[in-house]
Amino acid sequence: MRSIPESRHGTSDAFLFKQKNTFSVTHRLGRTAVLLVPLILQANASADDGETRWQVFVTDHDTPTITALDLDQPNTRWSFDVDGPGRLFATPSGNTLVAVQTDDDRVSFLDAGIALDRHGDHADIEAHEPALIAGGLSGPGPFHVVTHDGTVATNFDRGGYVALLTEADILEGDLTAERFEQNHPHHGFAVPMGPYIVSSIASDETMEEDELSPRIGLAAYERDGTMIGAMATCTDLHDEAFSGSYLATGCAEGILTLRDVEGEPELGLLPYPDDFPPETTGSLLGVVAVQMFLGDYGDDALVIVDPEETPHFRRVEVPFRHVDFVLDPARPQFAYVLTEDGSLHRLDLLSARVEQSATVTRPYSMDGDGSDPRPRLAVAGDRVVVTDPLAQVLHVVDGADLTMADDIPLAGLPYDIVAVGGSGLTH
Ligand code: ZN
Ligand code: ZN
Repeated sequence: MRSIPESRHGTSDAFLFKQKNTFSVTHRLGRTAVLLVPLILQANASADDGETRWQVFVTDHDTPTITALDLDQPNTRWSFDVDGPGRLFATPSGNTLVAVQTDDDRVSFLDAGIALDRHGDHADIEAHEPALIAGGLSGPGPFHVVTHDGTVATNFDRGGYVALLTEADILEGDLTAERFEQNHPHHGFAVPMGPYIVSSIASDETMEEDELSPRIGLAAYERDGTMIGAMATCTDLHDEAFSGSYLATGCAEGILTLRDVEGEPELGLLPYPDDFPPETTGSLLGVVAVQMFLGDYGDDALVIVDPEETPHFRRVEVPFRHVDFVLDPARPQFAYVLTEDGSLHRLDLLSARVEQSATVTRPYSMDGDGSDPRPRLAVAGDRVVVTDPLAQVLHVVDGADLTMADDIPLAGLPYDIVAVGGSGLTH
């Protein structure tokens, strides 16, 4: 059995599992937001003006702090204390952030402070203070978070269940989660899709204490837990993404897809091409506006996956092992890849070529300890923001030509990052 190579989540997996034994939070600060500099709303000439705002949220590698800052007024900052260091996710709406603190068995939610309401031919933008939402979820080993159809689903790996919350309830502060029970505790996911819930399935074999059951497949379920049809085999299943009408996940055998066909779940396997090296995909992103996925394929290549049209797989080699990769939501043909030599590459998903590369950080080797701090990427409009933990800085790079636009100092070890924002009217 080949094991799934891990990248974006995988690195974090190693980091967090390692930290379980080495890190303990010795103090708990208050759970209220500390506003460091007041939010200055730009005065508008008229009530119907357009406005563009981008905020980034950054976790620290070692301390349980999340920093938010306005990308155009980087001294406008907020700081939020949570229970542990961890990873951040933004919901597709951009209105809500999820901070997963695996080793502290906690999940926190933040109101991103920017609400985009799309209607007709435009969006309205409304800015307010970002805020930590009181409460949160407690449970054993929260890990993967996936949002679909307005529901945020958090897998509690060591609890063997998924907590489901609608984004609307989260923003209203109602954190009473619906639970979906999985067959065994495992490092998987489950997410509502149309009328059913899609969940990973773990092996029935008896495990040593503390070991989680291996993932073996995926199935759709009624909301009450009744399996619909049969499980699709997906050995070592890892990561999940949505694009168009498809959900995709990585397996040892290929990419497993699921789509809804008139209320019935249809599972399909795209086997890796015979002429590809014997690697697998364990990290997947779903492109918005084009039905396409971007995944890893071993340590030094990526794969562009079209679930319907052939060729289903196009493989792109990068010159060094990849550290992180992200999609460009505003320009969906582009993705950005950071490799361990410190180079940022712009990948054209349509031509499957790396178009341009530029050095943005010192080298961060993928050798050595999985828990070492390494950079992460976020896309904010036409800018790519790169955390550089050892330099204690956020690099702001122009996505169009990969030139360095700004360096924003940030104390500590800036680590995982998400960007939220956009342009809209303020009428
Ligand atoms: Zn994972
Ligand atoms: Zn409007």
